Amino acid sequence: MRKIIFNAGPATLPEVVLQQASEGILDLSNEGISVAEISHRSTLFQNILAETLHLLRELLCLNHDHEVLLLQGGGRLQFAQIPMNFLSKETAAGFIDTGYWAHQAMMYAAYYGNTNTIASSQQKQYTCIPKATEFKASNGYAYIHLTSNNTIYGTQFHQIPTVDSPLIIDMSSDILSRIIDFDKIDFAYACAQKNIGPAGLSIAIVKKDFLARSNTHIPPVFNYQLLAAKKSNYYTPPVLATYISLLNLRWLKAQGGVATMEAINHQKAKALYAEIDRNSLFENNIQAEDRSYMNACFTMQSAEMEQAFIDFCEQHHIIGIKGHKITGGLRVSMYNAQTLDNVQQLIHIMRAYETNYMNK
Ligand code: PMP
Repeated sequence: MRKIIFNAGPATLPEVVLQQASEGILDLSNEGISVAEISHRSTLFQNILAETLHLLRELLCLNHDHEVLLLQGGGRLQFAQIPMNFLSKETAAGFIDTGYWAHQAMMYAAYYGNTNTIASSQQKQYTCIPKATEFKASNGYAYIHLTSNNTIYGTQFHQIPTVDSPLIIDMSSDILSRIIDFDKIDFAYACAQKNIGPAGLSIAIVKKDFLARSNTHIPPVFNYQLLAAKKSNYYTPPVLATYISLLNLRWLKAQGGVATMEAINHQKAKALYAEIDRNSLFENNIQAEDRSYMNACFTMQSAEMEQAFIDFCEQHHIIGIKGHKITGGLRVSMYNAQTLDNVQQLIHIMRAYETNYMNK
């Protein structure tokens, strides 16, 4: 029996995508070869890569000002690759510190140049998103970096702030989940393992004029200009992860695209937060307007009670709701592939648990 998986990433994928992937692993499009065996120079893979890049463009409503890159590795690799390309010892990058990943991005950048925090919610235990009025001056930076959705703390920028320097956004945990105006963003990136496909690759969306300003005196494997010129097929791309991502993007398009997903994501999050607020056993301390639609983070009275609830969920085939080790508590991740039915099933279990608890 398939479980209901609320993992934060690698996250659940649509069952139909897994079915198609398993067929392709045995025999790709009746070609007599597995997708895990094809050459990255073959026409079969050229077609997979071209369709993946095309679908990303279409689903994200990108135009000719944007370059889309498919990259090896995950989010942290981008934390290092971005400053290699866009920062130097003579320049500074500004960071909006909204939690662990945002802070890590800054720590990685500090190896390559100067870093400054221009806004932070650390003093509020990362329970909110800093308001634009709290930002320090944002002009004169090589770039400003922010994390649009904070996977560990469960906060999200519902509006992308306007800043006076090029803007770079880590969208690892909310890419493709909502309509975003990429004209306002110079460089956006996301690791795949939440809303795109399996772990092992990342995507980047970069404005061509910003890309033209990147540092090219770095090893070719990190050089975005070169990777763009080689159309994301310089090194051996993660062929299997790319293929499964393509199947997932096709699925996303068939559901109605990003706008449809956004509406469903709102429904899921609204229903779950309503239950957390109603249910006497659970608490969410995130400022209401900054709550994430992707990751709902909440607590119970004690770690023991949380573990007992996790065990109860597992008995009902619901897994992946343990919070990140930094924060503890519970975390329910509701990326695109998570269905409203599954979220409702969890809500049902939360209610049943409360009833059992009260009747003890
Ligand atoms: N950024 C965000 C927002 C994340 O949630 C994560 C964790 N998946 C990362 C970066 C780091 O990604 P990776 O584990 O692929 O390095």
